[in-house]
Amino acid sequence: MGQELVGIGGELDDATGYAVDVRLKSATRMAQLEAGGAQVVIEKVSPESLDQIAAANDLSIVATGKGDLAGMFERDAARSVYETPQRYLGMVIVKNIATDGTGFPHRLPGFTPVCFNFYGDIGEFFWVPFYHKTFGKCWNLVIEAKTGSPLDTYRDVNSGDEMLERVLEIIRTYARWDWETMKNMELVDGDEHAWLRGAFPPTVRKPVAHTESGHLIWGLGDSSFAFDPIGGQGAGCGARQAGYYAEAIIERGEGPFDEEFMAATFEGFYDWHGGPSYNFNNVLLEPLDSIGKLVIISAFGNPKVSQRFFQGFNRPWELHPMLADKEAARRWVADAAGGSWRQANITGTLKIIKGQLRLKTRGRHFAYDDEA
Ligand SMILES: Cc1cc2nc3c(=O)[nH]c(=O)nc-3n(C[C@H](O)[C@H](O)[C@H](O)COP(=O)(O)OP(=O)(O)OC[C@H]3O[C@@H](n4cnc5c(N)ncnc54)[C@H](O)[C@@H]3O)c2cc1C
Repeated sequence: MGQELVGIGGELDDATGYAVDVRLKSATRMAQLEAGGAQVVIEKVSPESLDQIAAANDLSIVATGKGDLAGMFERDAARSVYETPQRYLGMVIVKNIATDGTGFPHRLPGFTPVCFNFYGDIGEFFWVPFYHKTFGKCWNLVIEAKTGSPLDTYRDVNSGDEMLERVLEIIRTYARWDWETMKNMELVDGDEHAWLRGAFPPTVRKPVAHTESGHLIWGLGDSSFAFDPIGGQGAGCGARQAGYYAEAIIERGEGPFDEEFMAATFEGFYDWHGGPSYNFNNVLLEPLDSIGKLVIISAFGNPKVSQRFFQGFNRPWELHPMLADKEAARRWVADAAGGSWRQANITGTLKIIKGQLRLKTRGRHFAYDDEA
């Protein structure tokens, strides 16, 4: 493993050969694990070898992502709202877009922001500042196409170059305000995985499963919750779930790590973070209702409301119950704004009208510095 990580540009730890570049979280965590006395084995696990692993250990956790072994955990039909994918996803990792705060002056001057574009009818796309394991700072672009919409143009794509072409076309057509910044983008060098396309249904799985011989396994991360990327919830939820499980394991001491312990720990996590995170993410997949409009328009009108709303991506429990209760939503907006919800909403509405007029007359929704 140490060998594979040579070339990331970070220092290597003398004792382990692992990267000590703390920006590469998984590599750093593995180095820390070994330094703490753990044995790290890197190999493909099959259902058969998992059976042996689970037989030989007090506790076996499966965190292998959405596919493959995750299928051993039954889909929780009551909690998994969707049976089919809600968006067809496309992704590229690109260079030649500024990462020093100068790239998107019309959005947030001086910053390197996550840039969202939400369209009620066709889908969404967003640009995320990204740290690539060999290239370093760059951008990750995700397109979320509603089936059959004009964004749904890349199901037949079979290479990164083709995917990049389609994404450029989408930006040129639907995000003209970002075109100048993004028109020279290229895939990052030397990574055949710098693009993807595909779809999966957002899913919550039962936390506990049994291997062929009946040994217990416990799901974690995407093997437990598969989120549509629209709300950027997946990795954060998985990391918190890992922390929550770790604390429960420490508290449990010598065990036993039985089914009751696994199920109860999962329920505690679901109530605190997993459930609110999954519900919030699903709200973003649905057409904006009157509560959603109130919150988004008020956020557009008042920076304090937008700040509180975006904090909610990190603390989704704070967005409940307001996302499902209009009175609670009004109180939430008023509290965030430090004043009247109506005022925030009216200011946001006027800003939208101004932006629409600007779009009609100048071809761009955003105000630029030269118009200030
Ligand atoms: C396009 C896109 C954009 C996203 N954007 C965001 C975002 O902005 N914010 C966010 O929080 N989340 C985001 N996510 C979700 C995030 O990527 C996942 O939630 C996160 O990676 C899940 O981590 P994990 O460790 O559970 O699974 P994974 O990251 O999938 O890791 C599983 C690991 O297990 C390995 N593995 C699989 N099968 C086996 C096997 N049989 N034996 C041994 N090893 C195996 C895999 O190789 C992999 O290394 C996005 C997802 C997508 C698809």
